[in-house]
Amino acid sequence: MPQIILNSQKIPYQKRYSKRAKNIRISIQNEELILTIPKPWFFQSKESIEKRALDFLKSKTDWILKHIKIDSKKNSEWQIKNPDLQNYSRAHYLKYKEEARKLCEEKSESWAEKMGVSYNRIAIKSLKTKWGSCSSKKNLNFSYKIVFLEAEKQDYLIVHELAHLKHMNHSDDFWNFVCDTLWNKKFKRFKI
Ligand SMILES: [Zn+2]
Repeated sequence: MPQIILNSQKIPYQKRYSKRAKNIRISIQNEELILTIPKPWFFQSKESIEKRALDFLKSKTDWILKHIKIDSKKNSEWQIKNPDLQNYSRAHYLKYKEEARKLCEEKSESWAEKMGVSYNRIAIKSLKTKWGSCSSKKNLNFSYKIVFLEAEKQDYLIVHELAHLKHMNHSDDFWNFVCDTLWNKKFKRFKI
């Protein structure tokens, strides 16, 4: 299986060619990363589409690392830098829970307004395998460990879950919504 290095972590992935796929896309099935490449390639060489597919894969690093379960023994580099991410004691959770609540409430409120979505409740939990989730009742859950991430990643997690209020899946529409929201923010100052 080919591997790609994302944030110094080796991530194995499966390459698939699809006649039905219109775009290059990534997905996770049974905890395995799948890179789907449309076929035939028409006006492009196989080489150039493969290169674009790899660039695309790299551009989705945050999403991939968020959604794939990483073997923590083999890939402990970023966790060593963040010992708080490895601490799952109840005391640790209680210590940071309110800080996380404040952060998630403030960020969710301002992002939700920009995105034109609304939610019911925000709950802060000690989630071991997930950073966040969104229920069909429009309740958002976040791991309290969000407080240990960089601001950009915090925003991404919030926007990701808020986007599920509109698209309860990981469809192209969902990703476009996430990207539009974050990009507009990032590049606003360059817009006329
Ligand atoms: Zn999601």
